[in-house]
Amino acid sequence: MEWEVVIGLETHVQLSTKSKIFSGASASFGAEPNTHACPIDLALPGCLPVLNKSAVEKAIRFGLAIDAKVANRSVFDRKHYFYPDLPKAYQISQFELPVVIGGRVSFQVENPDGSTYQKTINLTRAHLEEDAGKSVHGIVHGKTGIDLNRAGTPLLEIVTEPELRSSAEAVAYAKALHELVMWIGVSDGDMQKGNFRCDANVSVRPKGQKEFGTRCEIKNLNSFKFLQAAIDYEVRRQIELISEGGKVVQATRLYDPDNDETREMRTKEDSMDYRYFPDPDLLPLEISDEWIEEVRASMPELPEKTLARLINEYGISEADALQLISHRPLTEYFEKAAAKLKDKKIAANWVKGEVMAQLNAAELSIEESPVSAEQLGDILVRYSDGTINQKGARTVFSAIWEKKGDKVDELIETLGLKQISDTGAIEAAIDAVLAANPKMVEEFKSGKEKAFNALVGQTMRATKGKANPAQVNEILRAKLAQ
Ligand code: ADP
Ligand code: MG
Repeated sequence: MEWEVVIGLETHVQLSTKSKIFSGASASFGAEPNTHACPIDLALPGCLPVLNKSAVEKAIRFGLAIDAKVANRSVFDRKHYFYPDLPKAYQISQFELPVVIGGRVSFQVENPDGSTYQKTINLTRAHLEEDAGKSVHGIVHGKTGIDLNRAGTPLLEIVTEPELRSSAEAVAYAKALHELVMWIGVSDGDMQKGNFRCDANVSVRPKGQKEFGTRCEIKNLNSFKFLQAAIDYEVRRQIELISEGGKVVQATRLYDPDNDETREMRTKEDSMDYRYFPDPDLLPLEISDEWIEEVRASMPELPEKTLARLINEYGISEADALQLISHRPLTEYFEKAAAKLKDKKIAANWVKGEVMAQLNAAELSIEESPVSAEQLGDILVRYSDGTINQKGARTVFSAIWEKKGDKVDELIETLGLKQISDTGAIEAAIDAVLAANPKMVEEFKSGKEKAFNALVGQTMRATKGKANPAQVNEILRAKLAQ
């Protein structure tokens, strides 16, 4: 029997606002427990929530970035459940009328054989809500503490249609979404702090069947690796279960990375169990068209557009362009380095070649690069105008990397890297090389192209690597043709 996997993701993205979604308490991470929790977050009687404008602005940004409908009117609801880290016994969320409706996300998926394909999926909605607090085990022996610093931090929950068809697609979507929310500046995307976490809804059905199978929801996956592993395990479990005549029971499950398995947490509650109703403390959220247009005007260029520009205007290959836009700080580094160059491909090759190789070897991120984008730009300007050759460019790059200097022109001078572009000097070097290597000349004349490269190598060596290689090639060919 052939099976088809069906996945829909619900992603909680923490919005990077200064204060919480309904109170003025700080939303920053890592403070002493319960020092960033005000009476509103503690749900003391008589408190009233006030909506944070910046959280709404970020929801609008997201809606525009995925080409969704930003609702002119949406409503905050109370979602009731009891949990020790939720003092109000309800979470303020949006249910029937969310702030963002529809939209789509495109991403590249890699096949097992390394080839790739493009996929676009539809989003159902994105809504604003508050986060709960945190139960802290083990600080006081045998007891559990409650830290309400996180209670009330703003979240955007982003829900996809059930259109993902493999764990690879789910991970590729989640990565694209992760990059997008950071790209448009609505979240820091810090997964270690739980600021980007996914719930995966997974079902299977025999290939060709129209109806969906019964799904399970795996909660709180905060790494791409766990997301992939949890889905893979769940797919195997469901197929095995059905193949043995069993039935999948709709349930909420948790992934246990230590044992690489999912375990049932609770059988699935229906939305009616939450007794949703509009929060009487909050007015409906009204967003005017003018506000939406204001936000649109402040949006950065979106990744898809940047990609098209890199390919069509700069002539960069699609694969290279995809790599350069995979992370916005990398894109910005590239754009800055390429700013003064006519041929942007030179910067593209350097960034994805030398720069990435050195950063990877040193385990540094692009933001931590010892060679700034401006410095790389200066190096490449000198390479492009013929002052230094490729080897000289590498030497300057290493010198700045190793903190032997920070000014490109000074380094070219002190390290003696100026390339010899004086035709007379190059001709003299070539004449000497030809005279000293009659055998190589013979070989070249009998058709061995390799001998030509060897002669170029000899000439470069004779000039201590400073000759302009293009000139060496040209003059050498001319002399050999005589
Ligand atoms: P709930 O809000 O109760 O979790 P929703 O109907 O809103 O349920 O769906 C939540 C997520 O589950 C969505 O991402 C949706 O695409 C996905 N989903 C719905 N049905 C299935 C299914 N049969 N298999 C896999 N995913 C599903
Ligand atoms: Mg759900």
